[in-house]
Amino acid sequence: MNLLQQKIIAVGKVLSDSVLKVDSFLNHQIDPELMKYIGEEFAALFADAGITKILTIESSGIAPSVMAGLNLGVPVVFARKRKSLTLVDQLYSAKVHSFTKNETNEISVSNSYLSKDDVVLVIDDFLANGQAALGLIDIVKQAEADCAGVGIVIEKGFQNGGNVIRQRGIRVESLAIIDSLIDGKVTFREDTSK
Ligand code: 5GP
Repeated sequence: MNLLQQKIIAVGKVLSDSVLKVDSFLNHQIDPELMKYIGEEFAALFADAGITKILTIESSGIAPSVMAGLNLGVPVVFARKRKSLTLVDQLYSAKVHSFTKNETNEISVSNSYLSKDDVVLVIDDFLANGQAALGLIDIVKQAEADCAGVGIVIEKGFQNGGNVIRQRGIRVESLAIIDSLIDGKVTFREDTSK
């Protein structure tokens, strides 16, 4: 088991057969040592992909993305869920339905921070039905940039997002893939390349 999997077993809480709570290290309180490990893992996986920028979504994607950006030596852009008064540039935007909140947000990114010369790594904390990642991929497309792949901290392999994105020919690398949360028990896929 890798460090992330060990942490999930030690402190993750299975809320239902489909939702895992990891507020103590990723979604509320953040474990910097674990984020350092996650950043190094993403950087190693995408070291040869020519990444020039990381794109994530606020708020839980930011910590793992910053650590990956530090290791890859590239800036991190996060899509905003609410329009900010200071976000006055031309925007790329996409509609994203949230699996956990059951609401649809329009996410947006200023066109100042993504261009057609960028090779983008999309990062997010969880992959469930793929809505968040697909919204970010759509924004990369609007910018006419290249999407080199998607880096996910925790993929729920029993939901469809991973299949949908991989079927589009997009590389998806997940540091932990959960095959089941049934009966309060976390079961990992041992080979995260499938
Ligand atoms: P998707 O867009 O792939 O359906 O869902 C991914 C988003 O929903 C992530 O950005 C994450 O915030 C949230 N999410 C989905 N499933 C879970 C879960 O089991 N636990 C937590 N903490 N967040 C989740």
